[in-house]
Amino acid sequence: MGKIDDFVEKNAIKPSDCHYHTARSVMSRKGEMSGKIRVLAAKVDNIARVEYKCPECLHDGYLEQEWRRPFSIKCQKCGIKITVPKMKQQAKKEFKAANKK
Ligand SMILES: [Zn+2]
Repeated sequence: MGKIDDFVEKNAIKPSDCHYHTARSVMSRKGEMSGKIRVLAAKVDNIARVEYKCPECLHDGYLEQEWRRPFSIKCQKCGIKITVPKMKQQAKKEFKAANKK
């Protein structure tokens, strides 16, 4: 189990207790879907808990930081900024990447 799952279970977090909860693939600069990010922002402490796999260096990490929008994190290993892609934006990027081939 991941840290977010542990937190959800320990605190009996329901969807209504969250500002935000998502799990997405993250595209690297080369256009590969090599990264992942899961964000859970709980209302109880206004802290966002983040599990991620960096799309550039493939580092698996976990961090906590204050929840605010727009939300982004920094990879703890290589320092790149990872933003949570918006669904529409991501669809557009994937469409563009697919058309390049
Ligand atoms: Zn990285």
